[in-house]
Amino acid sequence: MYYLDVIEVKRLTRDLLPRVRENQIDERLRGWNWFESPVRPYSDELLLPVWDVATSICPTKRDAWIRHKILKRSVPTTIQQAKGFIVHKIISSMFLKAKKLVYLGYEELRDELIKSAEENLKMELGEMSKNLEIREKDVEELKDFCMKIAKWQATRIESKVLEVKAKYPFLNEESLVQLSFPIATETVVDGSLLGLSKYLRADAAWMLGGIIFDVKLGRKEDWHRLQVAGYALAFESVFERPVDIGCTVYVSRAGEGIRVDRDFYIVDDYLRSSFLEKRDELQMTLLRDVEPDVADKCPRYCVFRSYCLK
Ligand code: SF4
Repeated sequence: MYYLDVIEVKRLTRDLLPRVRENQIDERLRGWNWFESPVRPYSDELLLPVWDVATSICPTKRDAWIRHKILKRSVPTTIQQAKGFIVHKIISSMFLKAKKLVYLGYEELRDELIKSAEENLKMELGEMSKNLEIREKDVEELKDFCMKIAKWQATRIESKVLEVKAKYPFLNEESLVQLSFPIATETVVDGSLLGLSKYLRADAAWMLGGIIFDVKLGRKEDWHRLQVAGYALAFESVFERPVDIGCTVYVSRAGEGIRVDRDFYIVDDYLRSSFLEKRDELQMTLLRDVEPDVADKCPRYCVFRSYCLK
């Protein structure tokens, strides 16, 4: 998921990074300026998840209002979003398991990784069914899709570890983990300086430099990049280091297999200010308790239709 190919490395080094150096990000839009407008939040009492701010599924943001004011829990707006959460969890749990196995001295990781992904999937589906009603057919499709991803991911991880081992046969486990997994998955960061949740979890961050990864299912949406901008700002507010590049990883079905597309971009001024505006708007809506209108056009897959369209 997060291992780059040769073309992507070339694009990063010859195109995106030089462009960032030439057109520097506006200092006022760096996360480390959290104490000044426009990064300073409208309120530091209401802390929001990044996905709640960035998501634009409901045109009036009534979905966020229902979550915060009625349900008081994190129910996703669509089944697709819920499936995405599960895919995230499966992928990150596989990286965690792989690191543990390397430390324990395992050489062959693939079968163990697939087995643990299957167990995690069962657990996650159980959790999801507590919050959402999902048709049996959707559950079966999701299982099949997740296991395809898990098998592909397990093979990639095992071959990466073997590749590093073959190049450096005398590495100890610590170094082997560092070289095989140059990314930190489910990276936790405290977003409270920005009015964001204290337990933000980015899908992955490249440890050697400022890249944030986010996995999405299905087709591209503009707001996907805003979500990464939110994490980038939060990282900058805590670590005081620039995060200039984002990558949304799109995973979809392709015949009997899967397709993985990585979309790299600069976390530029536009993405930053758009995210910050959306954050302020949502905080204001929720704190002033202004109930957003029902949207003129509600997506047919919104799970809150029974609350809004009576
Ligand atoms: S049903 Fe319509 S108004 Fe209600 S949350 Fe969904 S999209 Fe928004």
